Amino acid sequence: MNLLIYERDQLLLRKSETIKKYPHLLKVLDDYRNKKVYYKDLDKFDEETQRELKQIDMIRKSAELEWEPLSKTDYTPNMDKYKCSRCNTRIMYIRFIRNIITKEEYPVGRECIDHVRDLFLKHGIDLYAMEREDERIRRAMEIEERFNDIKFIIENWNNVLDESPIMIPNDVELLFLTARRELNSAYTRCIDNSITNKDILIMDKIYNRHNEFYENIKQFIENNKDNEWVATRSIEQWLKRKREFALLNKLKQTGIITKEIASDIYEFRFMKFISNKLRIIFAKRGIAGWEPKQDERGYLIKVQNIRLIVDHKKVIERYWDHIYNGAVCDNYIFADILVISKIYNKDYDKAEKELRKYFYMSKLSLYSMNYDRDEIILKEKSLDDKFLKYRFVPFIDLCKFIVFNIPNIDIQKIQNEIMTTSTTRYEFEDIKSYREQMQRDIYEIQRTIYKKR
Ligand SMILES: [Zn+2]
Repeated sequence: MNLLIYERDQLLLRKSETIKKYPHLLKVLDDYRNKKVYYKDLDKFDEETQRELKQIDMIRKSAELEWEPLSKTDYTPNMDKYKCSRCNTRIMYIRFIRNIITKEEYPVGRECIDHVRDLFLKHGIDLYAMEREDERIRRAMEIEERFNDIKFIIENWNNVLDESPIMIPNDVELLFLTARRELNSAYTRCIDNSITNKDILIMDKIYNRHNEFYENIKQFIENNKDNEWVATRSIEQWLKRKREFALLNKLKQTGIITKEIASDIYEFRFMKFISNKLRIIFAKRGIAGWEPKQDERGYLIKVQNIRLIVDHKKVIERYWDHIYNGAVCDNYIFADILVISKIYNKDYDKAEKELRKYFYMSKLSLYSMNYDRDEIILKEKSLDDKFLKYRFVPFIDLCKFIVFNIPNIDIQKIQNEIMTTSTTRYEFEDIKSYREQMQRDIYEIQRTIYKKR
């Protein structure tokens, strides 16, 4: 038996603007809201009504063009907010359709919306997916009712760690993080699948103790924040940024900085802290400065008008006891510091001046020094005037004792080192042609750069 009026007509046709032109048809829709009308019933109606009923296919088609679905939904557990536009009953899950002409929105319940499911699909809205989402929201509300603010608590659980000025060691942190993970897993399972007694028990156990977990961390911070050898949060972040996970894991075991760990930490604030210690330790003999230089991995000091970088790792290894106890060191000599230092590259010219004075009188003389070319050429003052080349930075480092005129150093040893490391001897002509070649190369490079512009 063919239906004359469809279920969907009670919504899309009856609420349309089109229907206003067909009052007889509207009356049939009103009279038969809960009864079915078949084609065979057509002759029960009067002539006027029949005339409109016979065109219902075309009228319906026109009316349905007036509608669009909305992707928003609503949910009211008390069913006190909305009535379904089709069946007029109070509804809990609400969908909406909108009349394009009047812009009016109509709430529709979950059962009645089934009759216009194709309207939603045409606009790319999957009602089944929306239903699943509705169920998730309903379960979330149910859990929230039972455990007040649970979602907020889970989301903000780690704030106390993020805000901590110090690193929290593994054994304290793990307990705290595990509790959150278990709470979150139980919560997520309830939202995504179904609310089970097992998960309620888990949530009950952890949720009720969340302040206790929180206080535990706060207490740890309070007890340890004044210990200057406790690793800071910024050291932890620095290690993560540098992907120094082995070192991070080692430090996470206790949270306390030891000699071995300290020598590998170049985090700026830590270096600043160490530099303050160094200032106290070496104050007695007048070595000043100790400005931390993170890029150079050391501390800048100035002696006899020449700046030096004291190596961070080496100074910690050698003077750890003094650094750790903040004790003044009064039995050191400058040479001890020089051993763990290198000449600051911006003062190479000053070092060169000192070296020239010295080599003038030795059996090797300085022919030329060039930092940019990483080259030092020495002239052997033997009978046949041979030249030898050395790399710039190792040479300066080797000769730093000469630069500072440290007494009792074995000059002979330094000279032998130079002469044996650099075994190739050049004639004057070789050096000259090497220089000319270099000059030509530079000219070529400059020319190509100029051409490209
Ligand atoms: Zn309904």
